Amino acid sequence: MSQFSAPHFQSHEAAREYLEGLRWGTERVCPHCGVVNQSFLTKKPGVYRCRVEECRKDFSVTTKSVMESSHISCTSGCRRST
Ligand SMILES: [Zn+2]
Repeated sequence: MSQFSAPHFQSHEAAREYLEGLRWGTERVCPHCGVVNQSFLTKKPGVYRCRVEECRKDFSVTTKSVMESSHISCTSGCRRST
């Protein structure tokens, strides 16, 4: 049985799409340089690449967290030194 037929796969995909909508809505923000709507989907599902010349980094909805978003609740992971 491949990972693609695993029962959790569908919900994993759905969860990612839900998170993307929650975090980005219609404006996908690069967590590395902060540019808005200047990224494209790579071959990996859920992984985007920044178009900005000086950046060009890959990211997904779970890459870093938007510090400014107060509605995202902090877990113990927030205590990590920056
Ligand atoms: Zn960027």
